Amino acid sequence: MSTSADGVVNGGISFWFADDGLPAVREPLAGDTSADVVVVGGGYTGLWTAYYLKKADPALRITVLEQKFCGYGASGRNGGWLYNGVAGRDRYAALHGHEAAVRLQKAMNDTVGEVVAVAAAEGIDADVHRGGVLEVARTPAQLARLKEFHAHELAFGEDDRVLYGARETAERITVADAVGSTWTPHGARLHPVKLVKGLAAAVTALGVRVHEATPVTEIRPGHAVTPYGTVRAPYVLRCTEGFTAGIKGQRRTWLPMNSSMIATEPLTDAQWAAVGWDGRETLGDMAHAYMYAQRTADGRIALGGRGVPYRYGSRTDHDGRTQDATVAALRDLLVRFFPALAALPVAHAWSGVLGVPRDWCATVTLDRATGLGWAGGYVGSGVATTNLAARTLTDLVRLDSGEGGATALTGLPWVGHRVRKWEPEPLRWLGVHGMYATYRAADRRESASHRAASSRLARIADRVAGRN
Ligand SMILES: Cc1cc2nc3c(=O)[nH]c(=O)nc-3n(C[C@H](O)[C@H](O)[C@H](O)COP(=O)(O)OP(=O)(O)OC[C@H]3O[C@@H](n4cnc5c(N)ncnc54)[C@H](O)[C@@H]3O)c2cc1C
Repeated sequence: MSTSADGVVNGGISFWFADDGLPAVREPLAGDTSADVVVVGGGYTGLWTAYYLKKADPALRITVLEQKFCGYGASGRNGGWLYNGVAGRDRYAALHGHEAAVRLQKAMNDTVGEVVAVAAAEGIDADVHRGGVLEVARTPAQLARLKEFHAHELAFGEDDRVLYGARETAERITVADAVGSTWTPHGARLHPVKLVKGLAAAVTALGVRVHEATPVTEIRPGHAVTPYGTVRAPYVLRCTEGFTAGIKGQRRTWLPMNSSMIATEPLTDAQWAAVGWDGRETLGDMAHAYMYAQRTADGRIALGGRGVPYRYGSRTDHDGRTQDATVAALRDLLVRFFPALAALPVAHAWSGVLGVPRDWCATVTLDRATGLGWAGGYVGSGVATTNLAARTLTDLVRLDSGEGGATALTGLPWVGHRVRKWEPEPLRWLGVHGMYATYRAADRRESASHRAASSRLARIADRVAGRN
C-alpha cells in the first residue's frame, strides 16, 4: 500500500477493507487431515458452496482452504454490483438453444433476490440497496448498441427492463452527454467486504472448518496439497477464479484479467444535488472499455474500469496496488461523467483479478470420475453468479454422492462446459493488450465521429479475443 502526494491510498487490498477493517486471519491447516468436501478458495464461490452444502447436510465435514484470508480476491475488491448478468449466456444459447439460455437467465434473475434474502436471514448487513442497474449511452454509437442490447435482453425474458431517452435519463442522474439509458430492476448495490466477511462468519458458525494463510499448491483427485499438510476428500472443489493460474497444471486455464477501481471522498449534499442519482442504481455505460460505478452507503462514488488489463505470464497481484496511470485514467473518467465533481478528491485506488476462460463463458463442472469440481470464469460478473454457481455445485455433489437427484440447476447449460486453454506467452500478453488498446481506440473513434455505427475496430478485437 502507498499514499500519493495528493493523498490517494493505493492498494491495501481495497477501499472496502480499509472501510470495514482487515480481518484477523483464521488458523492455518495444522497437518494432514480428511473431510467429505474440501473447497479451495475463500471467496464468494467457495464460501457460498460451503454454505449450501452444509445447509443441505449438516453432518458433512467441509474444509475451506484459503491462501490469505477470506475475501482477499475479487470478492473483497469488486464494484458491488449484485446483478443478473452472466458471462457466456449468448454462447450457451448458440450451443444449447435459446430456451436453455433463458432458463440460465431466469435463474440469474432469481439469484439477486436469493443473495439479498440469505444475507438478511443470516444477519449480514452488506449495505444492500435494491435500486436496479442503469446503463447509459454517451455517444450515438453507444446509443445504437444500447438499443440493441435492450432488445436483446427483452428476448431473454426481461420484460421488466425499461428504455429511457435523454430527458428521462437526466431525471435519474446527471451524466454529461447522456443520450439514453436502459434500466433493469434485477440488481442491487452492496458493500463487497461486508458480504464476504459475513459469509465467512456464517459458514464458520455452521461448523465448516475454514483455514486461512493456507495456499493449495496442487489439486489432484482426492487431495488438496498445501505446505502444511494434505486434506484428503472424495470431492475437491476449485474456487480460485483469477488466481487459478497459480495452481500446478492450471497456468493457461483462466486468464487473470485486472480490473481497477477508485473511491472518492464523500460528496457534499450540494455535490449530490448536482449529480442526482437518488435511486442509487448501479451505474454503467456502453463503451467498449466499459465503466461501472456505485453510490456507496457512506456517500462516495466507487468507479471501476479496465486499467492495465493483464500482466505478462499470468502474474496476478500486489495486494491490490494499481498503476498511477490507471488511477489518473479512472479519475478522468469520473470527471467526464460528472464535470461538477472536478474538484472531488479520490480517496483510494485498488485493483483485483477476474478469471477469463478462452471463450469468455462462466462454467460449473463436477467431474464424476475424479470428484474434482470447479466453478468460475465469471469475467466481470460474479457477485451474483457465484451464488448460482455454488448452489449448482452443491446440487452436483449431492447428485453424484446419491444424496440428491437431478435438479433444475444441474440441467443449466453452463454445467460441464469445457473450453480449450489460452495460448502460451507471449501470445497471451500480446492478444489481451492488443484487444484493450483496440477497444480504447474504438471508443475514441466513436466519440470523435458522432456516428451511430459501432467502430469496426471493436468487432475485430472481439474476434481476436474469442468473444464472438
Ligand atoms: C475490481 C473488480 C470489480 C468487480 N466488480 C464486479 C461487480 O461490480 N459485479 C460483479 O458481478 N462482479 C464484479 N467483479 C467480479 C467478481 O468480484 C468476481 O467474479 C467474484 O468475486 C469471484 O468470486 P470467487 O470466489 O470465484 O473468486 P475470488 O473472490 O477471487 O476468490 C478466490 C479466492 O481463492 C483464493 N485462492 C486462490 N488461489 C488459491 C490457492 N492456490 N490456495 C488457496 N486459496 C487460493 C484467493 O485468495 C481468493 O480469496 C469484479 C471483480 C474485480 C476484480
